[in-house]
Amino acid sequence: MNQKGLSEKEVLALLNNARLKDTSYSKVLSAMCTRPHPIAVKAHMQFIESNLGDFGLFPGTKELEEKVIKLMGELFCDQNACGYITTGGTESNIQALRTARNLCNKQHPNIVVPSSAHFSFDKIADILGIEVRKAGLDGEFKVDPSLMEKLIDDNTIALVGIAGSTEFGQIDPIDKLASLALSHDIFLHIDAAFGGFVIPFLDKKYEFDFSIRGVTSITADPHKMGMSTIPAGGLLFRDEACLLPLQVDTPYLTIRKQHSLTGTRSGAAVAGAYAVMMHLGMEGYKKIVDRCMGMTYRLVEGAKDLDIRPFIDPVMNIVALDVPELEKVRKKLREKGWFTSVTRNPRAMRLVIMPHLNEGIIELFISDLRDCLRS
Ligand SMILES: *Cc1c(COP(=O)(O)O)cnc(C)c1O
Repeated sequence: MNQKGLSEKEVLALLNNARLKDTSYSKVLSAMCTRPHPIAVKAHMQFIESNLGDFGLFPGTKELEEKVIKLMGELFCDQNACGYITTGGTESNIQALRTARNLCNKQHPNIVVPSSAHFSFDKIADILGIEVRKAGLDGEFKVDPSLMEKLIDDNTIALVGIAGSTEFGQIDPIDKLASLALSHDIFLHIDAAFGGFVIPFLDKKYEFDFSIRGVTSITADPHKMGMSTIPAGGLLFRDEACLLPLQVDTPYLTIRKQHSLTGTRSGAAVAGAYAVMMHLGMEGYKKIVDRCMGMTYRLVEGAKDLDIRPFIDPVMNIVALDVPELEKVRKKLREKGWFTSVTRNPRAMRLVIMPHLNEGIIELFISDLRDCLRS
């Protein structure tokens, strides 16, 4: 650190230089985050000082958090659901399985997840000391419930279903997983980190939430398709007792107990999430999802004209395309400024069609893809 501080102007110049190296979202088809809605940014700035780790000092922000949980509970068909706003899907998944582990009290606990599960479950295995068993998928990249059942034993404490898989945007047969969970009397956690703010707004209806008996907890991220600012994840439990195993005593704060994984935590992101949910409403989110789905269908149609097929017909705004010479094509696209990503198995070009994109950009991508395939 310098002995003497720099002027504000000098510091802002340094920041500008750094910011110029960042990518603007305009040609990013690889990200699950997007430009937050302007009202979320405003709310975030207004609550920038607020710390929910010590909410006795910030009762107004705490009320907003309770309201966001209520709004999300309604969205997921249980207005009495409880929970809190986390830093994202990873924290929500960790905390959901931590609850399951602490309530089940097994010496060598395991959980069964789809092999399509997000890499946060590898962190869970390490942090929580839980064995993570991965069940195979069917031809449409949904987990196969019969393969899941084979992996269940006396030490299994929870099943995980994915509603909106990171790579294929697929939804597992949650009703079948719920029957399994109920018959074995174990937890069923739904990872809807991405899909939580997509599935309720699709034209086609899917049951994936608390409307299904047996679903015990849900992860859904406001900072992905919820259009909110980072860091905002949501963790919801059907049963309030599920929060208890997460509580620790906090002797030197204005509050007596805390159930979040982090200590100090952003009230700004909670205000952002509240603002955007109140502002958009169900209709606003539906419009955003409709627009993303329209662009997704157009992209798939454009790819098919180039003889490139998606591995599944799009369920949500994520597509995996079977592109020949994948790495070569991706490199060429990168030279044209595009950010694409890949799936693991099978390897495919993975594209996420987020609200920061527009129809013109999709046409440009299709035409650049055509050029990259030819050259
Ligand atoms: C993005 C994602 C996560 C992780 O969320 P973070 O906010 O990045 O921690 C977990 N599960 C699924 C299905 C996701 O898509």
